[in-house]
Amino acid sequence: MNTTANSQIMRCPKCGANNRIAANAQTGAIPVCGRCKTPLAAEAQPVIFTDRNFAAEAEKSALPVLIDFWAAWCGPCRIIAPVIEQLAKELGGKVRVGKLNVDENQMTAARFRVQSIPTLLVLKNGSEVERIVGVQSKEAIRRRLEKYM
Ligand SMILES: [Zn+2]
Repeated sequence: MNTTANSQIMRCPKCGANNRIAANAQTGAIPVCGRCKTPLAAEAQPVIFTDRNFAAEAEKSALPVLIDFWAAWCGPCRIIAPVIEQLAKELGGKVRVGKLNVDENQMTAARFRVQSIPTLLVLKNGSEVERIVGVQSKEAIRRRLEKYM
């Protein structure tokens, strides 16, 4: 953990503004962006990416984006799914974490030449900067993301 003792910076997923959030503020309220009022903790769950929303939600994201390419029939994908959910919680405000079902969204999977699953892609400003193929530990995935946060 590289957060300071009593506050952390959360970057707004919409406008990119940095917001300082008191880590010990146990008010139960979801922090919102000081500039555009977007909830900063709204994405504790992975975002569902599709062919239709991919450009707007992933490629135009102000934050780096981690995308889990998966399918229902893929055994190893079921191993990595809870890791993706944990990363979505832990990296909220720093990295946009989501999933894309390759059977339902074949255009996007083909565009990024996803040959085997699970494949994790990291996009920054719409460009692929990392590709992680196969099951990896949460810590290994975090390490690959750190330089983009
Ligand atoms: Zn904002």
